Amino acid sequence: MIEIAPLAITTLKSNFLEKANVCIDVLRLDAIHPHISGNKFFKLKYNIDHVLDNGLEGIISFGGAYSNHLHALACAGNMHNIKTIGIVRGDEVENETLKDCIGWGMKLIFIPRSDYKIATQNSSLPQKIKDEFPNYYILPEGGANELAVKACTEILKDVTIANYNKIAVSVGTATTLIGILESCNIPIMAFASFKKAAYMHNTITAKTKNTNYTLIDDYCFGGFGKINSELRSFMKSFYKEYGIELDRIYTAKMMYGILEMVEKKQIHSGEKLLVLHTGGLQGNRTIL
Ligand SMILES: *Cc1c(COP(=O)(O)O)cnc(C)c1O
Repeated sequence: MIEIAPLAITTLKSNFLEKANVCIDVLRLDAIHPHISGNKFFKLKYNIDHVLDNGLEGIISFGGAYSNHLHALACAGNMHNIKTIGIVRGDEVENETLKDCIGWGMKLIFIPRSDYKIATQNSSLPQKIKDEFPNYYILPEGGANELAVKACTEILKDVTIANYNKIAVSVGTATTLIGILESCNIPIMAFASFKKAAYMHNTITAKTKNTNYTLIDDYCFGGFGKINSELRSFMKSFYKEYGIELDRIYTAKMMYGILEMVEKKQIHSGEKLLVLHTGGLQGNRTIL
């Protein structure tokens, strides 16, 4: 897979943070590449290499209609001459995300939510699809596998971790979080993008011995993919104040939580945070 430059860091500057005496540095995974952006770059990296090294014909993966994962996969497949198939949850729809995927040559197959659930939970595709695409590599939903974790352990490679006393990351499948836990020893604030996140502990502890994290689901705004006017206006004011665009599914919710925790002094004077901007900005193009 393509090589990337060391990740940039942006320090947030405002009277609010200065007064609170809290330092927030943002690690800009969103700036890696215009399309293969954020943590999805890392999650795909060794999976793409695996397919190339083994001469497989293509990759089949799964996602919702706004999936950052399918979007990045379609682009990466196009760049490396790997055929891609996206199994999309639910009824056929059109949006900017899927238009790009089709433009990059991804074949989309829409399947009912009930079948999708079975297919993603057991990584068992409907037989018809298996028969049609025999020499394809099956990549789990969100690209969440061992090779993805391996690449996520490299996210902090060029960061001087000693500069920080906490790291914040947003959580979907927790693959990125697990990679971070495997690669450093400082406390991690893990912001869940969905409600009742406690069940994720089993997934996490099955894959890493490092339990130095706190799972926070107070800032998911009612559930995965849910947005409201408060979150929308936060994204606008955050951009105005700090010049950084956030995505509405993951990073906006995390950043809202972080700034509220600073205000409530749950993040204290003197703390130095590294916050991962995991990308996902392509999803903002479709108005919800
Ligand atoms: C996919 C995604 C996440 C979640 O990453 P996981 O490794 O699945 O936990 C976080 N932020 C953004 C922007 C994403 O696209």
